[in-house]
Amino acid sequence: MFSKILIANRGEIACRVIKTARRLGVRTVAVYSDADRDARHVAMADEAVHIGPSPARESYLVADRLIAAAQATGAEGIHPGYGFLSENAGFADACAAAGIVFIGPPPSAIRAMGSKSEAKKLMEAAKVPLVPGYHGDDQSPELLAREADRIGYPVLIKASAGGGGKGMRVVESAAKFAEALAGAKREAKAAFADDHVLVEKYLTRPRHIEVQVFGDTHGHCLYLFERDCSIQRRHQKVIEEAPAPGMTVERRKAMGEAAVAAARAIGYVGAGTVEFIADESGDFYFMEMNTRLQVEHPVTEMITGQDLVEWQLRVACGEAMPLTQDQLAIDGHAFEVRLYAEDPSRNFLPSVGTLKHLALPRRGSGARVDTGVRQGDAVTPYYDPMIAKIIVHGPDRAAALRRLQRALAETEVVGVRTNTALLARIAAHPAFAAGEVDTGFIERHKAVVLPKAEAADTRVLALATLARLLEWRRDAADRAAASAEPTSPWHSVDGWRLNGAGRDEVRWKDAERDVPVMVHYRRGAAGSAAGAYAVDCRIEIGNAVLDAGATLARDGSFRATLGEAVTSARVVRNVANDGGVDYVVFADGSVGGRTLRLVDPRDVSAAEAAGAPGGGLKAPMPGKIIDFKVKAGESVSRGQPVVVLEAMKMEHTLVAPSDGTVKRLLYAPGDQVPDGADLVEFEAAE
Ligand code: ADP
Ligand code: ADP
Ligand code: MG
Repeated sequence: MFSKILIANRGEIACRVIKTARRLGVRTVAVYSDADRDARHVAMADEAVHIGPSPARESYLVADRLIAAAQATGAEGIHPGYGFLSENAGFADACAAAGIVFIGPPPSAIRAMGSKSEAKKLMEAAKVPLVPGYHGDDQSPELLAREADRIGYPVLIKASAGGGGKGMRVVESAAKFAEALAGAKREAKAAFADDHVLVEKYLTRPRHIEVQVFGDTHGHCLYLFERDCSIQRRHQKVIEEAPAPGMTVERRKAMGEAAVAAARAIGYVGAGTVEFIADESGDFYFMEMNTRLQVEHPVTEMITGQDLVEWQLRVACGEAMPLTQDQLAIDGHAFEVRLYAEDPSRNFLPSVGTLKHLALPRRGSGARVDTGVRQGDAVTPYYDPMIAKIIVHGPDRAAALRRLQRALAETEVVGVRTNTALLARIAAHPAFAAGEVDTGFIERHKAVVLPKAEAADTRVLALATLARLLEWRRDAADRAAASAEPTSPWHSVDGWRLNGAGRDEVRWKDAERDVPVMVHYRRGAAGSAAGAYAVDCRIEIGNAVLDAGATLARDGSFRATLGEAVTSARVVRNVANDGGVDYVVFADGSVGGRTLRLVDPRDVSAAEAAGAPGGGLKAPMPGKIIDFKVKAGESVSRGQPVVVLEAMKMEHTLVAPSDGTVKRLLYAPGDQVPDGADLVEFEAAE
């Protein structure tokens, strides 16, 4: 076994590799960029080496620095994780030349599968079924368009060097081909420095089923069954599970053996994944091979009881795999969800910011959480916006699904937008429970899983109001304590003393509407109990009236009673990036949290924020202007595309926030823009 390895990656995968290494007695070296100086993986590793500025191009992607760091610390092996240099054959070569073990497949196997086009040629020769398409070298737009006609629309354009769903465009008709091709090539060039593409038949209701393969240097090659990764957004996985629902023993064997044949054809060693796309009849076609460990490997670990990183380390040291095909069996069912910092309501735009409050499922809840962040850490525009992976296992699919639902109910994030509610709604959907998964699931069920912002319910508004009232009390007590005259009536915030009527009002802004909440204090019940602040009142919201009470202990814990019921809700106050004050309510039935904006005349910043225009034509994060879809002086209607921005290696289209006129373009295509920059001068119509 190694005595020391370097992990050429960051985030959750770096942390996950460190855990296995530690269990095996292997010392670990982390690497970090400027942005990651205080990152969790740095804190967890035995040693850490700074490798450069925040952009990955200048740090995590600089092979020489990583190799120098390994040499300087005496690491014998480098684990590349996924993304970054994990599928870079040149890096694997450079490791070998420096006498360091690359913990991954041989460079020749990476090269063989590095281009989706080349891989398809290889698989064609090995008689593995392929999706009809064109994967040749001629890249002239005319020829590609002719091939698309031949294949028949809809078609899918894919970057040959692609990964992570980038550089892909679905094209519905010949009229849209040229523009889609240009977009795919641009994105591919930006993300992979290679704009070679292929064109395939676009299957409309397929499933993504992939097979985990493993090879060693003793000539063994086997499969650790399949994962279903059909629940996707933007062609990227969101929920994965193992085994695939509805899989038969025969098909599992056929797919497993096809995957092993593909791996053997390229002399595969180490962990790899052969991805297939399966149609409704169950026929399956080779899509690509990922020559590395995959993000969703934990579901395979859960159903096989194996640690795949341990297998990787052993195989890289020349050991044989610990088990044979016959010794492997499936135990129960596992799910993984990817908790992303992104805004599902804005086409999954990554959301950057500080994780001001972060509660992930507790250890005792039976969930495994793989994460690279802690509360207080930031999601930056430099790297993948994944916050955590939540993994559950159960004796069968239904039991695992119940655990997943519980785990998601325990997940609380404040400070960035997340997909928590989307994940919870999918997990609660009857079609998902029935195993009716395909890559169109989210789109098909979008009315349910991505609902338009609905009005917050009365309970949520009441809970936020109670939290607000308690904070008034606490702040007043703090002021009184700090003041020379603690008994001055000016320090009292008891409602009846403030305005004689025993009443107060708190106003919230919720999904475009303003909601006044009236509070009637109950005489005599106000004031602070020992060690806690308390409020007891009747709350009126529109026509609804409810008796409510709450306490805030000095340790910050909040307890509320609404009507007869005691709730275990949590309310987190958050000063948002625009300076406004939000209250995020986590309560039963509001998985993912419900955000209410305080509109409070006593709170100047909030009042300002409430009056501020909605924006929508500001850069949501630092990026590069790709294209303006309008000219200066042009009038636009609400929702019309105005500008295309490239940020976090994806293209984002920003649309007009309302009907109006684009008076002036403030940048030119190719310009780099900072976070929050106004991109155009926009005048809303009256
Ligand atoms: P696929 O290439 O089929 O999408 P995965 O779903 O396994 O395969 O995702 C690989 C992606 O993971 C990379 O393209 C990259 O965007 C992302 N990635 C790379 N490093 C990390 C990391 N440390 N944490 C989370 N995601 C990462
Ligand atoms: P990446 O390298 O980004 O992972 P893949 O080739 O694996 O690219 O494709 C990503 C996803 O796109 C697949 O999981 C699937 O959902 C979808 N996809 C790929 N090829 C097709 C196709 N021919 N028809 C329909 N969907 C496809
Ligand atoms: Mg893929």
